[in-house]
This record gives sequence, structure tokens and C-alpha cells, in this order.
Amino acid sequence: MKLLIVESPAKAKTISKYLDDKYEVVASVGHIRDLPKSNKKAIDIDGGFIPHYETVKGKEKIINEIKKLASGAEEVVLATDPDREGEAIAWHISEAIGLKKPKRVVFYEITKEAVTEAIKHPRDIDNNLKTAQEARRVLDRLVGYDLSGLIWKKVRYGLSAGRVQSPALRIIMEREREIRSFVPEKFWVLSSKLKSESCDELIFVCEKEPRDENEVNEILEKAKKESWSVVDIKETEVKRAPRAPFITSTLQQSASTRFGFSPSKTMSVAQKLYEQGLITYMRTDSTNLSAVAKKQIEEVVSKKFGKNLFENKVYGRKSKNAQEAHEAIRPSNILKEGAGNTEEQKKLYFLIWQRTVASQMIDAKVLRTKVTANIQSKSIPNFALYGSRVLSPGWLLADPHAKKEDVELPKIQKNEDLELISIDSEGKETLPPPRYSEAGLIKELEKRGIGRPSTYASIIRTLIDRGYVVKEQRALLPTDTGDVVSTFLENNFTEYISDSFTALMENELDDIANGKRNYEKTLKDFYVPFQKEIKSKDKLEKITNLGKADPKLKCPKCQANMIIKLSKSGKFLSCERFPDCTGARTIDGEELAGPKDTGELCPECGKANLIERDGKFGRFIACSRYPKCKFVKEDPETKKKLLTGVKCPVCKDGEMMERRGRFGIFYSCSNYPACKHAIKAKPTGKFCELCNSLMMEGTKTIPERCSVKSCENHNPHKLMK
Ligand SMILES: [Zn+2]
Ligand SMILES: [Zn+2]
Ligand SMILES: [Zn+2]
Ligand SMILES: [Zn+2]
Repeated sequence: MKLLIVESPAKAKTISKYLDDKYEVVASVGHIRDLPKSNKKAIDIDGGFIPHYETVKGKEKIINEIKKLASGAEEVVLATDPDREGEAIAWHISEAIGLKKPKRVVFYEITKEAVTEAIKHPRDIDNNLKTAQEARRVLDRLVGYDLSGLIWKKVRYGLSAGRVQSPALRIIMEREREIRSFVPEKFWVLSSKLKSESCDELIFVCEKEPRDENEVNEILEKAKKESWSVVDIKETEVKRAPRAPFITSTLQQSASTRFGFSPSKTMSVAQKLYEQGLITYMRTDSTNLSAVAKKQIEEVVSKKFGKNLFENKVYGRKSKNAQEAHEAIRPSNILKEGAGNTEEQKKLYFLIWQRTVASQMIDAKVLRTKVTANIQSKSIPNFALYGSRVLSPGWLLADPHAKKEDVELPKIQKNEDLELISIDSEGKETLPPPRYSEAGLIKELEKRGIGRPSTYASIIRTLIDRGYVVKEQRALLPTDTGDVVSTFLENNFTEYISDSFTALMENELDDIANGKRNYEKTLKDFYVPFQKEIKSKDKLEKITNLGKADPKLKCPKCQANMIIKLSKSGKFLSCERFPDCTGARTIDGEELAGPKDTGELCPECGKANLIERDGKFGRFIACSRYPKCKFVKEDPETKKKLLTGVKCPVCKDGEMMERRGRFGIFYSCSNYPACKHAIKAKPTGKFCELCNSLMMEGTKTIPERCSVKSCENHNPHKLMK
């Protein structure tokens, strides 16, 4: 038996149809190993940025299954996706099941021809590709960890920042500031309804859009006094060339405009098509089409649209990584006009089919007509009327959505007299630049060299998941939190979140993939100065004040001025005398009830009352002068519930009680902070036979263990052997 391993069950199913009985096809179902979730020790920085991987939770079973199959196989073939991530998955599988000499095969479409051909030419795992993927993971982890840590301290706990996510957020914020500072200007659109002897009324629009109302009135006045005529008719034949076949970014953009799909949606639908063997690999930045594909297109074009409409076209765009990105996204079999299981799959498939076929067809020819009219003295700007007609549709036959409606003009002659029926002016205002849509942002990221086909969709998803950006209809709107975080990073990490730096880093990762750059040096060159920068920002004050509020809005409690602050749910106004006064308003000026005063004086400082606050773990009562006074009153009711009834063996006075910390629940003495005795799990009330410390609850297999980690009784199952 020969074993072929892929990452997805759907892909495995498709491939197994193409291979004979000698092959068993099995899926790893995604990643089987990854960096530990929250631990910076995941990476040995001093040892050369070596990542320490661990098995993804729940994957032990599948690893064992694959291991068993592999041990009985005469040959093991790794057929994960043809890019860096796929290469890394192949390597992880090989490591996890301990393969000696795995064969790696690569194909860009899951068809019988492609798969059988690939199996004939196996290679070793490409260490450069795998290392480039590793470098991305390690970089992102280090930057994310350090930058987020700083933001927790300086802005607010729980926020995050990232290497590629932050530049994308900055681009959105820069546009937002343009919109905020935009001052609209008035302008006027003038249109005249004119009639010739031979035809109906026609609407001509003034070619100048005056910004001055006096000028508008002057034009209107003259227009009504003099007689009108056609001054010119210009006909031009223009060519419209088809667009290049789809790459990841253009597919995401088209699916967004045509169907309203988000980029992540497009990618998941495309992946389903790919796994069924219906389209080529959907992560690519190459516009290439194979010779075989072009032959098929030629056949389709001449059969369906006409013999002379095929034209072999090559699109200029060079892939950044020729060895990874192989071809554009196209149907595996172009002779098939429709495919897919669901409505969405069918729609996306047909979109890809249309674009692929159209890309190899002759240009469309369109006749554009412009008719201009003016008054006798020609003392006002020209008024114009446009028409257009497709002379020969060419590629538009395959992609009719790209066609614009014909605007037919009536027969009209130069110098023909026109009768003015009416003339109107409409006042308008110039508009600020629009916010980015998801597809628009991807276009912008691509233009600036930020991100790669494999990451565009996830960058946007991260910004939305973090609450930095919300989608309003199709526009990406930064939230207050996004604004504050971006502003902080722009002020303090200008270089690191710049376009040029991020693009340079992408190029360096590409160079690692191409074997032209060293992993350790790349990470070191980046990380050493970066960490210095992070350390130097430690002195920064925490940002609590986002500026003065409108002075008309006074504190509802004491009438003092207010300042803008950031809470979990966005900006709000706080009394500038906080914490001495807790008056607050919403950002729009409405009064906020705020924390409830208990009427009880703080026993610690005696300067203010205790108030009710809402914390991470529920309501509690504390001094209103926090953080100046840190007194917290323990509620006797809740305290009773948390006590375990087990006496503290250290001070022999307190009782062990449940507490919550950063790493979850633990148990410590009720006399804290006077007594600091703490253990990890719930005490059972028994004492250790070896060291007389508290025994605590263990796991399913070890019901009880000593609370002292260094005690042998901490691992009683080992003692028994
Ligand atoms: Zn106040
Ligand atoms: Zn106090
Ligand atoms: Zn104690
Ligand atoms: Zn013990």
C-alpha cells in the first residue's frame, strides 16, 4: 500500500477517485502542530529564533492513525497545497509521524492528469519554502506579543496589534482623517433641454461646473437670450481590451462588486471548488495560463462565439514567486461552462469561467459620440451630450456584465439649429473621498506591497474581529478603539507600520522562500532594533486623556469641564476631576448614570465614598478614588461562597478560598495579603503523607496530588511504578 497525505477531507475524496487501489488517501484535517497559544517561550530567541511547536489539541488521534498507516506503507507521499503554508504542513506531518524520507508532490489543480503527472515527479520537502512560512509565523508572533503587550499597558488591557494588521488599520485611519478634515465646496451642474427640428428633446450638460453662483446666473441669463446650435459632433472609435485572468486579489474584488461576497467568503467558496477539482489553486498572484488551458479556450471561443474571436494574449504581471504561483485562477476544464454544488459555488465558478475565456478574446470596439452645443456668441461654456455604441463586441460576448448599455443618439447634423426648451441649474457639494470597501482595501494593500494572496482575507477579518473596524454596508469604518490604537502606533512606531517597511519585510520573506536569504539573520536584523524600540516606549504615559471635550458640556455632577476618554465600548466624556468626581457623559453629551454610590465612607483613606463597580468577574465595591486609593470591600455573601472550609496550613488562621487570576482559578489564604499561601487547585482537606502539605484535586487519571510541585507525591502515578 502507498499512502498519500493531504490536508483536507474534500481534497482527499477528489484525489482518491483518480488513483488506483494501491493508494490510500488520508487527510490531516488542517494544521496538526502550531506554536503554543499564549506563551512567548514558544520561540527560543537566543538560540536563533527556533520555534517550539506543539500538537494542536484534539489532533493526537489523527496523528496516531496516520502513523499507523504510514508504518505499513511502502511509500508515503505528501500532497498538501502548493504554497508555503502547504509546504509547512507537509513538513509538520512528516515531523509528527517521524517520516524518514517523505516524498513531496505538488499540483495546482486536482485533476486526474495533474495528480498522476505530479506523482511521477516527487521531490524532497522544500526547506526554503517551509522556512519562509516559519519566519512569517515567528515574526507575527513576536511583533504581536510585544506590540500588544505595550498597548495593554499604554492604552487599554486586552487590545492587540500586529505586523500586517496595523499598517492596514493605518491606511483606513488615514482615509478617515481625510474625510474628517474635508471641507465640501459648492458647485453647480447646468443642463439645458434642447430640441432640433428632426428629433425629440435632448438633454445637454454644461462641460464646466461653476463654483460661483454669479457665474451660474450669468450663464443662465445668456442661454435664454440667444439662439442655440450644434457646434460640433465628434465620433471616436475606442478599443476596450479584456482584463487579465483572475489572481487572488482581483477575484476577491470582482466577487465583492458582483455578488457582495466578503474576501473570506470568496476564499472559502473558491477553496471548495478547488478541492472538488473544478478550478486551479486559488492563492496566486500569477496571470499566466497554461498552453493546455489556452487550447481549451480557443475551442470554446470558436464554438460558442465565433471562429475569429480568439486571440492569444499574455498579461504583463509577473508573479513575485514564480515557483509558488503557477497559473491564474481558472476552471480546470474550461470546456465546462457550469460547475459547483451550491448556488454560491456555481456563481463563483461562472465568474471565473467568464473572465478566463474573455481574457483570450479580441478587443471590443466601441464608437463614442460627443455632440456639443452652444449659443450664437459662444460666450458660455459648451454643453455636451454623449452617446456610445458597441461596433464589435469581441470579449464582451463572454463577459456581458462588463458591457455598458448602448446610448443611441438620434441623427443630428453639425450647425443644426436647436430650440431651447428649458435650462436648469442644480447646486451640489463636492464629496469627501469614500471609505474603503473590503475589496478596495485589498486593492490598496496589493498596490502598496502589503500582504500576499494567502493573507489578504485574514488581515481584514482580524481588524473586524478585534473591533477596530466595523462594516457599514460595504464600507470599512474605523471604531474609536481602532482610531486610538492606530494613532498610538502611528505616533510611536511610525517606521514599523509604514508601507515601505511592511513591503520590505514581505520581500525578505519571499527571498527566504527563494533561498536567497538567511532565516536567523532576517529575524535578528528585525527583532533586535524592534525590541529596543519597544523598551524605549516603556516610559510613555498611559493614554487616558484623548483631549478636551466641548467646553459647553459640563460635568453633570459638579459642573467642571470634561475630557474625552476611551472605554471598552468607545469614547465617552469624563469629569476632568476624576477620580474625585465620577460624573460622565456619552460622546454625544448625554448623561451617564455611572457607578452607584453606596453612601459608605472608605475605611482606608476616609476621603471618599465607596461605589459599586463592574469588573471582569462581576460587581464589586471599591473606593471611588481608585486608582489613588485601592481599597476593595469584600462582599461577605460572595466570600462565603468562595471559602473551601480547609484551614490554611501556613498561618493556621485563614481559610483557603477560590480566587481568579490571569491564568484562571486558583486557591489562596483568606488572609491575603497578610498571608500569601496559594495552591493551584481545590484543596481536598487531606495532607500529604510525604511532606505534610495540602493535597489538592488532580485530573481524571490522578484524582488527588500534593500541592507542592517538587514533592514526589505531586505525580503519584509515577510513585506507584
Ligand atoms: Zn465632576
Ligand atoms: Zn479610599
Ligand atoms: Zn494563611
Ligand atoms: Zn507532598
